[in-house]
Amino acid sequence: MGGGGAPEVRSTCPYCGVGCGVLLRADGQGGLAVRGDPAHPANRGRLCSKGSALGETVGLENRLLAPRVYGKETGWDDALQLVADHFRDTIATHGPDSVAFYVSGQMLTEDYYVANKLMKGFIGSANIDTNSRLCMASTVAGHRRAFGTDTVPGAYEDIEEADLVVLVGSNLAWCHPVLHQRVLAAKKARGTRIVVIDPRRTASCDGADMHLALTPGADVALFNRLFATLYEGGAIDKAFIARTQGFDDTLRSALNDGLAPTGLDAAEVEAFCRLWMRTERVVTIFSQGVNQSTSGSDKVNAILNCHLATGRIGKPGCGPLSVTGQPNAMGGREVGGLANMLACHLDLENADHRSAVRAFWNAPRVPDAPGLKAVDMFRAVGDGRIKALWIIHTNPAVSMPEADAVRDAIAACPFTVVSDITARTDTARLADVLLPATAWAEKDGTVTNCDRTISRQRSVLPAPGQARADWNILAEVGCRMGFGAAFDYASPAEIFREHATLSGIAGGFGRDFDISGLSAISDGDYAAMEPQRWPVTATRSGNRFFADGIFFHPDAKARLIPVSWRAPAAKTGPRYPFRLNTGRLRDQWHTMTRTALSPRLSAHLAEPFLDIHPDDAEALDIDAADLVRVTSPVGACILRARITDAVQRGQVFAPMHWTGETAPSARIDTLVAAATDPLSGQPESKASVVAIARHDAA
Ligand code: SF4
Repeated sequence: MGGGGAPEVRSTCPYCGVGCGVLLRADGQGGLAVRGDPAHPANRGRLCSKGSALGETVGLENRLLAPRVYGKETGWDDALQLVADHFRDTIATHGPDSVAFYVSGQMLTEDYYVANKLMKGFIGSANIDTNSRLCMASTVAGHRRAFGTDTVPGAYEDIEEADLVVLVGSNLAWCHPVLHQRVLAAKKARGTRIVVIDPRRTASCDGADMHLALTPGADVALFNRLFATLYEGGAIDKAFIARTQGFDDTLRSALNDGLAPTGLDAAEVEAFCRLWMRTERVVTIFSQGVNQSTSGSDKVNAILNCHLATGRIGKPGCGPLSVTGQPNAMGGREVGGLANMLACHLDLENADHRSAVRAFWNAPRVPDAPGLKAVDMFRAVGDGRIKALWIIHTNPAVSMPEADAVRDAIAACPFTVVSDITARTDTARLADVLLPATAWAEKDGTVTNCDRTISRQRSVLPAPGQARADWNILAEVGCRMGFGAAFDYASPAEIFREHATLSGIAGGFGRDFDISGLSAISDGDYAAMEPQRWPVTATRSGNRFFADGIFFHPDAKARLIPVSWRAPAAKTGPRYPFRLNTGRLRDQWHTMTRTALSPRLSAHLAEPFLDIHPDDAEALDIDAADLVRVTSPVGACILRARITDAVQRGQVFAPMHWTGETAPSARIDTLVAAATDPLSGQPESKASVVAIARHDAA
């Protein structure tokens, strides 16, 4: 299998949260052959276009190969000492909350664990947040409200066992293609019905039985309507409701929300609600159209309410399934890499949890209040409260809302460190210190995908130049800051064992995340570790949660959360009459640091664009391929028009990938205002307001 030469190495695709297994074979000259791993439970051999082009993205073009301090190459010793000294001095002068880490779902769990331990345990601040804040923070908040913990109840296998799959705010066909292949396979095998709920007609509508092109932001109204229908149709599971609290208030709220606008006609809504009600096995897959919203947490809970009220959770073929954008968004949640979480799903606000973590780490302090979430963190950088910032594997100067203001804030920060694989990002160009990190195919560690499956990433290529693993860089700085023994790690296996042991303490507090069954894993077993879904303890492994009706709130009951529809924060009007939606393309990844290296991926859609409805284009005298100027209250872009009725009248869509490096006039997040969900802090990236005009007429 797989040809001759060097043996194949089993690893995990570094792109989306599906977490597909890959088999890698190095050619000995820096190249890599890639195929899907037939034994991996996430993909069973399948790969999408991005995964199968991974071998084209591992070249050393654009790689950062040595540390740089103020633009000059230097050795690790000088660079690490400078970082440690700067952070220590800043903390001594201005306190622990004057520094911050902004990290990434690209990091492996072991890297994430060390970053979180350094900030929360030893620096003594909770100012560590992650670009996952832009991805699934609303789901975390919704899960915690409903279940008591951030628990994904089900598993990918539920897709094959479902009779109805509902995609909400998810262009699964482009953003999680292998999962979409599994949905289509279920349709073929057992006639599974597919409903897509999305303002746009996307590739995911191909093969769907129903497309509900709702008004942007109206998801809560639609799921409240569903909840009311379930009640009126006698579909509430009374035995399961006894395992919950909040039913009466939730029902009242759902009935009161019945007239909220969805943009759909009554017959469409009725047909959807009846289909959902009649079908016992329903999986609701939701993603950024739900999360990236000022009512994102409420949208999540509106979906969870319907599953809880009917007991359609924790059983084969049933349940809500959040799909995340990044390969290790879940691992970041497990280690507590968000500003409002403690390690291993323990609570920052709980004194017993804090003292248990502090004792385990033998740490001087653990903060008792949440740190700054991403948007607030960069505001604090901009107004001078944050004086030393470390950014790891992410490009906030492009990807944060109000990206121009974020870029200016980073530029003005007294001390900025960037760890990355390249110096050629908008953010890396602003760094005082640049630290060369190993890339995906050079790293060793673990990642956790959307259905809680922990998989190994294994290095198959040597680290080029002076590049080092992130855990090693972070641990070295921790040692040089004076925290010695706590960061004296020899390998990712050692970090994993510590993480697994801490998770056992979390399990002792009744938390869901418990992999203590792996706390004594040997180096050899870690090297050979098979994909496995948590929890992994002496008595539990990888099963679905909540089939027993036991939840993680103190009374073991779930919470139904009364929610009401709210319009997006920004209102359209005469000055900004269009609603701008942003999103991914099939063949690009984030800010294109890797995917742009593959000519075949770049050939799919080669330049940035704006999708406009034909009626709007005609009214504005815009022809296909015209350049259009797009202005919002916070920024402006120039994009090429594509005229399509895939978007509704009054709405436009633009992809998010282009940067100051690749298309300076098309940095889409310069248009997005930094309005956030009040509970999750997640920005509203899909409902900006803009004006558009032909560029030569603007
Ligand atoms: Fe990689 Fe996601 Fe494609 Fe799987 S679906 S190959 S994880 S990008």
